[in-house]
Amino acid sequence: MYEINLLKKLVALNTNSATKENYKECAQLIANETRKLGMKTKIIDVPAPDKKPRPNVLAELDVGAEKTLLLVTHYDIVPVGSGWHTNPLSLTIKNGKAFGRGVADDKGAIVEALGAVRNIRKSGKKSRFNIKLVCACDEEVGGKYGLRYVCQRHKKDVKADLALVIDSGLENIIVGCSGVIDGKITVKGKAWHAGYPHQADNPIYKAITIVEEIRKWGKKIEKRYSELKSPKGSPHRKVWNRLTVTVFKAGEKANVIPGEAVIEFDYRLLPEQKLSEAKKEIREVIKKINKKLGINSKLRILSEHSGYITDEHNPIVQEFKKYVTQIFGRKEIVGQLGAIDGTYTAAAGIPSIGFGPGGGNHHAPDEFIALKDIRKMKELIVKFCEG
Ligand SMILES: [Zn+2]
Repeated sequence: MYEINLLKKLVALNTNSATKENYKECAQLIANETRKLGMKTKIIDVPAPDKKPRPNVLAELDVGAEKTLLLVTHYDIVPVGSGWHTNPLSLTIKNGKAFGRGVADDKGAIVEALGAVRNIRKSGKKSRFNIKLVCACDEEVGGKYGLRYVCQRHKKDVKADLALVIDSGLENIIVGCSGVIDGKITVKGKAWHAGYPHQADNPIYKAITIVEEIRKWGKKIEKRYSELKSPKGSPHRKVWNRLTVTVFKAGEKANVIPGEAVIEFDYRLLPEQKLSEAKKEIREVIKKINKKLGINSKLRILSEHSGYITDEHNPIVQEFKKYVTQIFGRKEIVGQLGAIDGTYTAAAGIPSIGFGPGGGNHHAPDEFIALKDIRKMKELIVKFCEG
């Protein structure tokens, strides 16, 4: 099977996003493959400060159609890790499943996309869409020199009527995701000998009250809902605001009162919520808390990421859903609670959805993808294109 042979070669290359080893080889392998399929291909090598290669493959099959479908995948992987029952860098087929690091995230998506292009070329039926394919690097580390760069600097190259990001699951069709703001609050005190607490100013007690206030505010904004449905298993029907304290650090020794306490939090926005407004909001909240408690804590935004929302009533989204129903059965159109790369394609003005590639144990030992899901995803792309 074409897809399995290609997947075997991709899995053998350890494209660890932390070290960037084999990035060049892998991008070259994919580029060779797309060229063999008659796709016009280029490698966008993004300059990065660490001087390590960041090749992103961009391939295009122009069939002279009016509309264009952009398929989005990535070839980098998380570190192999331990606890595997098979060799993670050697594709193993067992009981209808393929095992190996990256098969579900996201090398399986690459072979599904290329398998589909191959079938479309062979069938002789005219595709309703020109097909563009991105195989990006660095997805697992944020995509700054991967998809984000490609979407920002090569907007024309990726221009399409629909972006299908094949990097989630088969449970739902995703049409948006939450934005996220991560922040850090530092509370200063006065470090001192624990035998003389009256001469110290313990920042831990202050930090605890701040955590309590953040928690109260988090409870309040939990009741704010997006217009987008949340995925199955969620406690609310619509995507909602989430605010969680994730780090609490202070002190080193039992007999020393520390001079500083640190709180970090993670704020998940509604897909339609503006990043700038959410930042303003969080700054004001911390200011209020400071005032109320008579504390002078300092807030720093560590990272920020906007969410997105694609109109589910867009005819092309509905058309895609029709074929998903045919092949996979009825799936709900929902928003994703975590972040997905559709954010970058959506920011480039492309309606963006997420579906596939299937599989399980992402970022864990024994990562796998079912062979039947590879076949079905390929079929989905082919049918969607051929109509
Ligand atoms: Zn991924």
